[in-house]
Amino acid sequence: MKKRIIQVCLIIALIVIAYIRISNEKSKPVKETRVALGTFVTIEISEKNPDNPVIVDSAFRLIAKYEKQFSPKEDYSEIIRINTSASREVEISYDLAELLQKSQEISELTQGAFDVTIGAVSQLYDFIDKTIPYPDEIKENLKHVDFTKLHLVGYTLIKDDPAIRLDIGAIGKGFIVDKVAECLISAGIRQAAINAGGDLYVLENENGEEWRIGIQHPRDDSTLWGYITLKNAAVATSGDYEKFFMKDGTRIHHIIDPKTGLPADKAVSVTVIAPDATTADALCTAVFVMGPEKGIQLVNQLDNIEALIIYEQDGKLMQCLSDGFMNYNYEDLSQT
Ligand code: AMP
Ligand code: MG
Repeated sequence: MKKRIIQVCLIIALIVIAYIRISNEKSKPVKETRVALGTFVTIEISEKNPDNPVIVDSAFRLIAKYEKQFSPKEDYSEIIRINTSASREVEISYDLAELLQKSQEISELTQGAFDVTIGAVSQLYDFIDKTIPYPDEIKENLKHVDFTKLHLVGYTLIKDDPAIRLDIGAIGKGFIVDKVAECLISAGIRQAAINAGGDLYVLENENGEEWRIGIQHPRDDSTLWGYITLKNAAVATSGDYEKFFMKDGTRIHHIIDPKTGLPADKAVSVTVIAPDATTADALCTAVFVMGPEKGIQLVNQLDNIEALIIYEQDGKLMQCLSDGFMNYNYEDLSQT
């Protein structure tokens, strides 16, 4: 009888140990990278939470939903529906209305350096076939690039020019990163980071402190230009190295100056820190177009926004920082 009791106790103890092991296993921090939004998206939850795998999975499902809705290529995406509609007025979703509202604000703020109607011109550049449009083609299509011809009345988008083509490539990723951050926060997560190909939103790190974030060197992808530290904020980088080809010694890249229809040439890379990733994403594209002088002047007028602009002068890479950039513990590795 005594032997039997010992056997039962041993079995129970083994079950308890196995249960504790399984639940510890489940409560590990998670870091998962998937291909999405035309880049690599990494979601990292640093705290131990048994729901981490489920939360990460639902975050990636949210990304997939937006990717479909906002795709510039997939038939029946909302963007395609608007771009192919001959009608002057189009009903749009709550999400897209929010995104376009923000787009228009950034366009006003940057006097059109950011323009979500750049689509008529940006679609002329082919980074796979490495072809550039003829000057006449650019001139003709530039007539349809003008954010002031786009109006939002509630959830109705009004296009004064039916040939307007939306391109949300400079703000969409940031918008989706913000939605993922909201999803994690509403699930009770406090220690996490989301990185969608250089558009980041970070909560706290595993110690409840700032994350240390590397800034890509624009001409050497094996090196970092520097580090900053950040928590509960966003950072985004726009660079002429992300999507480009060389033609007769000129770098043809994906950030277009809406005034000329040509790749913007005043900067090489721009990093913007902002309270949310939508703002950081849109502003870094705009500041890239504006260049170091006007770009830094604008950023210095804005609250809670900082920027690092890398540009080329006499064949050398130079940098210019906004007034409060050093508050993010900027470690400059560019001279080492
Ligand atoms: P980003 O990498 O965030 O700077 O975004 C670049 C993408 O935004 C390009 O691939 C285009 O789809 C689009 N884009 C290019 N130039 C502009 C511009 N001046 N304003 C708004 N969107 C732009
Ligand atoms: Mg952008």
